[in-house]
Amino acid sequence: MSLIAEMSQKALKLGLPISVHLDITYRCNERCVHCYLDHDDHGEMTTAEIIDVLAQLADAGVFFLSISGGEVLMRRDFFDIVERARQLLFNVKVKTNGVMIREKEAARLRQLGVEQIQISVYSHRPEVHDAITKLPGSLKKTLRAIRFLKSQGLKVSIANVLMAGNFSDQAGVIALAKELGVHYTLDPTITPKMDGDRSILALQIPGSELKQVFNNAELVGNVEEFCAPPPAPDEDVMDGYPCSAGHTACYISPYGDVFPCVQFPLPSGNVRRQKFLDIWHHSTQLKEVRSIRARDLPTCSTCAHVGTCTRCPGLAYMEGSMRGPSTADCEKSFQRTGIPSANMLKRARTDSAGPLIQIQLPMNSAQDGPFPVETGSPEALVGISAHA
Ligand code: SF4
Ligand code: SF4
Repeated sequence: MSLIAEMSQKALKLGLPISVHLDITYRCNERCVHCYLDHDDHGEMTTAEIIDVLAQLADAGVFFLSISGGEVLMRRDFFDIVERARQLLFNVKVKTNGVMIREKEAARLRQLGVEQIQISVYSHRPEVHDAITKLPGSLKKTLRAIRFLKSQGLKVSIANVLMAGNFSDQAGVIALAKELGVHYTLDPTITPKMDGDRSILALQIPGSELKQVFNNAELVGNVEEFCAPPPAPDEDVMDGYPCSAGHTACYISPYGDVFPCVQFPLPSGNVRRQKFLDIWHHSTQLKEVRSIRARDLPTCSTCAHVGTCTRCPGLAYMEGSMRGPSTADCEKSFQRTGIPSANMLKRARTDSAGPLIQIQLPMNSAQDGPFPVETGSPEALVGISAHA
């Protein structure tokens, strides 16, 4: 077992939030076509508030801290935040588009001892990447940043969101990652915008292309093993929980709202009104998330894929129920193995696919709606993003 897996298991036993994703802003200098965020500032936490939250996270036992956005460098206090996070000995990962990183910024990140920088690259061709980011010259600046960061000896990972518009450039981005000597992860999941607008879902790659991804040995390793029919679930599988969200990890928005995960928009508290540890231990929403085991899922517990599916409870929640199936993961399981999911069979029988519900963003965040996002395993040089 890897050290990280061992730490996560211990954290689970002890009920510790070992990993937190903190978005410090939703503002951004790019306008990516698939982005779910609204880019205005509706009252971000101040520097002092964030510094206080960091201290609370350290007291709560958090070790892995992802600092993300929006574009993190849109905040003038970005380096102050990272500095404080490092003083508190967090293992810090920064997610950025890299556009504002030059030699000086790269050197500062190195000096602060940031563990890893994740940078979004959608294509090796400027015309494709820049059309996605809607920022002319962005690929050039992003690649320049990667080179500066690499020259500082920092660990860099390229994250590629696969869409219909850049699907054919995947091999080019993998080659680019190899040339730069950085890790590569891809994520084929697009999620609705914060205001409930689902039009960006049209950017998703079709199922047949997903199948190509799952049959690419460079991405998945042993294709036969990866695409094998799922084994019959045993008691351990049925007693299992889906992912780290709410168990050992959570998400904090720039407005202090706490959620089980960045892709699980269930409002669970706000650090402006409550101490983080109070939320972690006493939030009824987090308690509910933690109470759910595979056997409690009405459809998924009857599904052949229940033991191997990447089912995201956050996506399921966006579709109407955190105990329901996530159709994006049903599609992945189906394209990977050729075996229809219990959800697909049910829908074929009843034709009962209802509309997605629009999830309301909470409290003092001015926007309504869901959020989604990423995830990625930086361990392999190339790999498909895996939910934690
Ligand atoms: S394939 Fe669909 S129905 Fe089956 S376990 Fe995954 S999300 Fe649930
Ligand atoms: S499966 Fe992954 S993205 Fe979905 S809620 Fe769990 S940790 Fe978050």
